[in-house]
Parts: sequence; structure tokens; C-alpha cells
Amino acid sequence: MEQNRTIKGIFIKFCRRRIQKIRKMSRVKKVIYMVAGLSLLCGVFIGSAFGKHSANSVKKELKQVEGELNKLKKEKEEQESAKKEKEERTNEANRPWYLTLVNGSHPLSEGYEPKLATVEGMQVDERIAQSLQQMLADARKAGLSPVICSAYRSEEKQKQVFNDTVSSWVNQGYSYWESYRRTSQEVALPGTSEHSLGLAVDIVSSQYGELDEKQADTAEAKWLQENCTKYGFILRYPPDTKDETGIIYESWHYRYVGVEDAKKITEMGVTLEEYLDESY
Ligand SMILES: [Zn+2]
Repeated sequence: MEQNRTIKGIFIKFCRRRIQKIRKMSRVKKVIYMVAGLSLLCGVFIGSAFGKHSANSVKKELKQVEGELNKLKKEKEEQESAKKEKEERTNEANRPWYLTLVNGSHPLSEGYEPKLATVEGMQVDERIAQSLQQMLADARKAGLSPVICSAYRSEEKQKQVFNDTVSSWVNQGYSYWESYRRTSQEVALPGTSEHSLGLAVDIVSSQYGELDEKQADTAEAKWLQENCTKYGFILRYPPDTKDETGIIYESWHYRYVGVEDAKKITEMGVTLEEYLDESY
């Protein structure tokens, strides 16, 4: 207290002396003093405003950096979960039964025999019978007449189909090797056919039973292409995908993959090989 009083006293004394000095000064000196004082005040004011401004911008920048870091963290998390999902999908052991891949480079496991059920006189894996029946029933409700012309084929039967097709090309005058080459593009080699899996069906129009490019123009083929995913089926060999699937365009061959995956595959516009990341 005593000390404060002393400091206050000294300060008041100092100010009084200053004022007395200024009074004694010439006018010019007074103006210089005032200008110097004002400049000092302006300096203090600008300095504090700038300080405040820069503090604000630093805060803003920090917030931006924090945002960027969070974004990067989120991206990394998303990448990791996508990687995990892909690993699970590409690992054959983790795949559900309806995503089993069978093609020229992925033969059916030896002795594979699905439990069969009969749909309209044809045999399929019993787990897809209801979906297939529902799809055909709804197509008929839409005024169409689809017919299953081929479903489950044992390996023995597949062998027979393959050999018969080779013979039909030979009968048309082609050499054996040319006939074999042509056949292998339209009929899977025994052990590599989805028909032996019991999850594939060939469906044609009752008005047009040929398995050729004109089948795609039938009302049945158009309805099936548009609606098959609702029942868990995909058009397995779409146009221009021979490089991936190994098989030419087949507008009649439908494969069961489950509703969820059928929708994803069709929306993505990929083949089953691409979807499972296993190109032919
Ligand atoms: Zn087929």
C-alpha cells in the first residue's frame, strides 16, 4: 500500500513536470509533441488490431488443418474397410455358396453334387428353386411365355453336350479343330460349366427356341434382362465380355448370385469375374 502510494506520487509528479515543460515550450515544439503522441497511440491501436486479426487467422488456419486431417483420417478408414471387404470377397473360402465362380480357369471342385429340386421339369440347386419359380410366374403374369430349356447338367451330360456340339460343326463341314474351337466358345468344357453347379438356367421364349443372337430380341429375353436381379439372377454372359468370361454373348443364360449381389453386379455393369476380381 505504502509502495503503491509512492509510485502513484512519483507518476503524478512526473506528469506535472511534463505538462509544465510542455507549457513552456514553443508552439512548434508543442505540435511536434502532439504529433509524436498521436502517432504512438495510432501505433498501439493498429498493432493491437493487427495482433487480434492475425490471432483470428491463425485460429482459422488451425481449424482448416484440423478439418483436412479429419478428412484424411476418414479417407484412410474408408480405404482400409474397402480393402478388407475386397479381401473377404476375393478369398474363395469366405464366399457364400451363391457366389461360387466356375469358368474355364475355375473348374468345379471334383465330385461336386448339389442337392437338386425340380422346377417345371428341370433340375436346379434346391436353394434357388423358389426364386426361379417366382421369376417365371411373374413373367407369365406380364403376359409372357418363358421356357427353361437347360438347367442342371451333370459333368457326364456336359461332356455329351460338348461332344454333340463339336459333331454338329463337323457335320457342317468344319475341320475337327475348328469345330472344337467354335464349340469351346459357346459350350463350357466339362467341369467348367455353371450348369453343373446347379445355379444356372437357360431360358428362352416359347415362340422362339433357338439359342442364337435373335433370342435377345424376344419379349421374354427383354423382360428377363430387366427384371432378373429382383429374383437374384444376372445375365451371366453379356455382350462384349468374352475376354472376361471366356464365353460369347448368351442372352438366355441366367445365373443365381443372390438379390443383393445381382443388383450390385448389374448396377456396376461388370461380369461376375470382374465383381469377384478374378478375370478369366
Ligand atoms: Zn447356359
